Amino acid sequence: MSFDAKQTQHVAKCPACGAPHHYVEVKFPIENDRGGWEVSCHKCGKPFTISLRNPEESLGRNFKILKRFDDEIGGYQGSAPPAIEVVEHSLDMNDHRLRYDYTRSPIYRCTQSGIDLEKAALGQLESHLSAVHSQFYNARNYILASKVPELENVVVTVPVQCRCGSPHNAIFYFRLFLNETPAPSASEMLLANVDGASLEDELTGIHSKSLMMDALQKLIARWRLKFDQIVIASPFIAHQYMSKEKKLEVWEWLLGILDPQRTLFITRSNSYKDYKTALLDSGLDHDMLASFGLESRIIGAGTKKQDFHAKVYIGVGETCEILSGSANLVPGKSMENASFSTMDRG
Ligand SMILES: [Zn+2]
Ligand SMILES: [Zn+2]
Repeated sequence: MSFDAKQTQHVAKCPACGAPHHYVEVKFPIENDRGGWEVSCHKCGKPFTISLRNPEESLGRNFKILKRFDDEIGGYQGSAPPAIEVVEHSLDMNDHRLRYDYTRSPIYRCTQSGIDLEKAALGQLESHLSAVHSQFYNARNYILASKVPELENVVVTVPVQCRCGSPHNAIFYFRLFLNETPAPSASEMLLANVDGASLEDELTGIHSKSLMMDALQKLIARWRLKFDQIVIASPFIAHQYMSKEKKLEVWEWLLGILDPQRTLFITRSNSYKDYKTALLDSGLDHDMLASFGLESRIIGAGTKKQDFHAKVYIGVGETCEILSGSANLVPGKSMENASFSTMDRG
C-alpha cells in the first residue's frame, strides 16, 4: 500500500436489518478506482452492496466480502440492494488512550530510599530502547513465521538502579500488533510494576481527588496487564455543578483508559443519563451512535445500581487489588481518604 494513502472509517447499515458494518476506505493521492463490494450481512445474512473507492485495497472489519467490483471493468452485475445509510467518521469511542504519566505523583517509590522508581525505570528503558526494539522485531518475525497462540501484549523487564543498593525490576508492556506497526517509544509503553515498592504505603492515606484520579489511571495500567477484569464502581462520575463540557471530559478520560471487554463498570442510572446529555450537547447522540455501532461499549453494557455509596476500584484475578475511599470519579483539590489492599480470592 502506498505511503500517501489516506484511510477513512465508514459504517454502512444493512438495508434489510440495519446492522452496522464497519470498514476502512483507502484513498490514494492521484489514481483512485471507483467500485464496491457485495457483502453478506453479519447479522441477517442477506447480501447487499457498498460503493466505495479502491475496492481491492479497502478493508472490511466485521463482515464477509463476497465480491469486489470495479465500475470501469463491468461494475456490479448482481441484484443485491445497495446500502443507503452510510456515514464517514473519525470517531473511535472505544479507542485506547491509556498513557502512563510520569509527571504525576509516582505510585512506585522505593520503600528503602524513597526515590521515584517510575522515572528511574523510564530512564532505564529509554537507554536500552534500541536493544528492546530489535529483540521485539526478531520475536515478531518468529511469531509471524510460526503458529503460536494469540498473544495480546509484549512484556519488557528492565533492572532499575537505586540508592538503596538492592535491585529493583520494572515491568513495561505494550499491545502486540502482527503487522508493520512500529514498536512504541519508551513513554508510550505502559508501566505495570516495579518491585521493592509498596502500593499500600503509597496509596493509603489522605490525598487530593486529583492525586486519586492519577493513581487510578496508573493502577488501571497495572491491572490491564496483571488481571482478568477491572471493576469500577462509583455512584457519581464528574460533579453535578460542572459544565457539560467538563463532565464529558471526565467521562471521556475514564472511558478512554478502560478496556470495554474486561471492565465491569457500575454507576447510578442518573450518571449514565448525565453522560448521554453531555454527549448530546457536544453534538453526538448516543442512540444514533449506537445504531451505527459507534457507541462506547462500556456505556452500552450499562450496569446500573441505585442505592450505593461505595467508591471501589478493583483489579480481579487470582489475587485482587482494591483501591477504595471517599473520592468520586472527578479531579479536584479537596482531600479524601483512601486505602489500598491486596487479598486472595475465594
Ligand atoms: Zn442485515
Ligand atoms: Zn531502592
